[in-house]
Amino acid sequence: MGSMHTGLEEVKDGFERLSAFYAARARGEAGLIVTGGISPNRRGALTLFGSKMSSKPDARRHKTITQAVHDAGGRICMQILHAGRYGFHPFIVAPSRIKAANSPFTPWRLTVGEIKWTIKDFVHSAVLARIAGYDGIEIMGSEGYLINQFITKRTNIRTDEWGGSYDNRLRFPLEIVKQTRRAVGKDFIIIFRLSMLDLVEEGSTWEEVIKFAKLLEAAGVTIINTGIGWHEARIPTIASMVPNAAFTWVTQRLKEHIKIPIITTNRINNPEKAESILASNQADMVSMARPFLADADIVKKARLGKANLINTCIACNQACLDQIFNRQIASCLVNPVACHETILIPKPTNILKNLAVIGGGPAGMAAAMEAGKRGHKVVLFEEANELGGQFNLAKEIPGKEEFKETIRYFTEELKLAGVELRMNTRFTTNIGFTEVFDEIILAAGVRPRQLNFKGIDHSKVISYPDAILHPEKLGKSIAIIGAGGIGFDVATQLVHHEEGVFEDFWGIDKSYSRGGGIKSPKILHAARKVWLLQRSPEKIGKSLGKTTGWIHRLLLKRLSVTSLSGVNYRKIDDKGLHILYNDQPLLLPVDNIIICAGQESNNELYDQLQPLGIPIYVIGGALLASELDAKRAIEEGTKLGMRI
Ligand code: NAP
Ligand code: SF4
Repeated sequence: MGSMHTGLEEVKDGFERLSAFYAARARGEAGLIVTGGISPNRRGALTLFGSKMSSKPDARRHKTITQAVHDAGGRICMQILHAGRYGFHPFIVAPSRIKAANSPFTPWRLTVGEIKWTIKDFVHSAVLARIAGYDGIEIMGSEGYLINQFITKRTNIRTDEWGGSYDNRLRFPLEIVKQTRRAVGKDFIIIFRLSMLDLVEEGSTWEEVIKFAKLLEAAGVTIINTGIGWHEARIPTIASMVPNAAFTWVTQRLKEHIKIPIITTNRINNPEKAESILASNQADMVSMARPFLADADIVKKARLGKANLINTCIACNQACLDQIFNRQIASCLVNPVACHETILIPKPTNILKNLAVIGGGPAGMAAAMEAGKRGHKVVLFEEANELGGQFNLAKEIPGKEEFKETIRYFTEELKLAGVELRMNTRFTTNIGFTEVFDEIILAAGVRPRQLNFKGIDHSKVISYPDAILHPEKLGKSIAIIGAGGIGFDVATQLVHHEEGVFEDFWGIDKSYSRGGGIKSPKILHAARKVWLLQRSPEKIGKSLGKTTGWIHRLLLKRLSVTSLSGVNYRKIDDKGLHILYNDQPLLLPVDNIIICAGQESNNELYDQLQPLGIPIYVIGGALLASELDAKRAIEEGTKLGMRI
């Protein structure tokens, strides 16, 4: 289980919660767990009061974690991460005084004395980790953090023995490893996370990566882990459009140059792929991080041959990385229990109820599953012939195909929970009055917002569900009204080009002909000409996820989508869509206009069912359409199912 920051490291009772979080993954048979990044000193922390391991009291606090993991039969290493210029506070340090684009602060240039102290702090931190009961440490040497900043010329322009030649730039990490090995002894795991592909200008060359790996091996590293891409790289490395195991080729290429075990990482989220990597000798170990948020038991389920019951990580980043970057505690969109193991505890009920759940979208499925598992008799009514609600649209979007795995997971779990599924059945007041239910959960979701301006009923106009499910109905030039998450999704589907290869589109050079492994992205012609429109004057795509919004914006820009904000819609006729833009009339001569203008709640049944005189709970999009959001929907369904 790869390193992930959870945000619990910094909260009151965080160590108790972290212990429960890691112990659950150990019980789920994770072979080796690596903690989130812990700084070796105050200045290296990601935030001013970010977690650190630099004193005996720190080590004492961590004992709760190691004890819990060992009691659960697991093994755990602590990751030591010095953020360097990526820290988000005024006291950050770096080899040279060069500001990172993704931090508002300019780092202090470390003096030679301070470099030596920083090395000592790494070593001290490792010794304390051992005292705390960890089985080893992982030294974070990738993703553009301090060690990476020493290694490349991009961020290290020193002229003393810590900069200049490659040997000099490697001195810092090699001293850390050598001195740590001396201090912790032979029988303590040292993993080094090596940046094998920086994906930035002036990054390491392939020859440099090989040389460094060999030196790390000689310096006493036990295992080498794969690091891909600096945080400032403009190439997606873990988002949903990154193909499964897209970077394993680089691990495989390094493997033949070293003898110690090597771990591969990035977008491996299912046991079949992990198994095939090991079986074909591409790596010795596979690291997954977010998949362990989505399902604590992923390994155990795979071992038992129950991969169909795995709650798959869909790489959305919405509840994990986006929340961390918004300074919230991480969780998981498809598994809200993640990082809340001491809070969200399902208990069997001794008052069995007959429950009706109306709607088989994410909210309804989650509520029915949890309530059914606790022993309630649950009937789930779904109008369509398949479960999944809005996820059935999402799974059609290129790069979001894995949303179908969430539907598969819930479908399997609903069966196990004994939930009766009534498909193709619209719940009516008549059913409510003829069958006896103790309580009703209304999770009927949303319907697309209808607009009202001249020509809105023209044959060129199509709703977004229709456009997503029937792209064959669409012409070659399209205007999209509404630039929220769904407007972006629809635009992505419209411009998608089958010939687009991930590496070529984003500019990843597998031949590694220059440092960083990057090349000029290939210009691909979009399948259609698309205009993406919104009324508000703000930047298009502002509401998208913190860690993925830039990818969606860049992708559409590369495929020549024209984004216009501050638009006023005037009318639609045979010529196309007439708008006011910058107070000037403008005709967009399009074949179709797709309405992606948000949604309205499907909650009319709430009033109609009041005469039943029984509790009716409204959740998900039926409760609040303006923030239609699968994360909230699944969380609400889960919590209600656990307490009803
Ligand atoms: P949304 O994000 O609320 O966007 C609705 C868009 O419609 C806005 O651009 C809005 O812009 C426009 N609009 C609203 N009322 C309008 C009106 N009366 N006339 C014309 N335009 C109008 O809704 P969504 O795109 O349907 O997405 C719904 C939710 O799905 C999101 O909140 C998100 O949680 C989730 N989602 C996220 C993603 C993602 O992050 N990648 C993808 C898909 C779905 P103006 O008001 O400025 O015109
Ligand atoms: Fe995966 Fe999304 Fe859950 Fe993060 S929130 S672990 S990306 S499914």
